[in-house]
Amino acid sequence: MKKILVLEDEANIRSFIVINLRRSGYEPIEAETGMMALEKVRVNPDICLALLDVMLPDIDGVEVCRRIRASGSKMGIIMLTAKSQEMDKVTGLMNGADDYVTKPFSPSELTARIDALARRLDVSEDIQAASELSSGPFLLNTRNRTLEKDGERLKLTQIEYLLMKLFMENPGKAMSREDILTAVWGNEFSGELKTVDVNIRRLRIKIETDPTEPEYLTTVWGYGYKWGY
Ligand code: CA
Repeated sequence: MKKILVLEDEANIRSFIVINLRRSGYEPIEAETGMMALEKVRVNPDICLALLDVMLPDIDGVEVCRRIRASGSKMGIIMLTAKSQEMDKVTGLMNGADDYVTKPFSPSELTARIDALARRLDVSEDIQAASELSSGPFLLNTRNRTLEKDGERLKLTQIEYLLMKLFMENPGKAMSREDILTAVWGNEFSGELKTVDVNIRRLRIKIETDPTEPEYLTTVWGYGYKWGY
């Protein structure tokens, strides 16, 4: 059973999420504070996905997300944000979150997003024959899901890996933000296009020499993005 960390300080929201996760076949691990969440991550290295509330009494959810990523974890991370906190979404995504769900959400909305992300992160792809994709200085290994630039390993989240794979498989092809959202996050829900933009921005910081003048992952104005190498 897949373990999911639920970081939420409000007991009623937390139990609502926990009940729904159990019903969907997941094993919820509860945390009330940011520090407690980091401790649960430490003792449960098999947590596959985390739901992180942003507003917490101690360290906020964005900081928890940043620390989880800093530890090298590739678990899926979904931020739980309030409608008014537009900035939190961007900050959360820039710090390594894969997606976010806006409160208040319905049980079906939340589980659809979790299922979609969990499926994307699933390692079932690993049983396929090993293969390598190369493009310019980049080498993508689809067996161990790693990316190297000039022989040096870059630390990517699973979503960043999936973005790189999509682009490297489609060199020179302009791809719309809608197509990217569907290919990487799944078509089970209609996510927000901003999620694509923020993840691309984050990916550029890792792969481009100058992220403000992207050389590889270029913008197709008014449409989407292109692997330009
Ligand atoms: Ca809260």
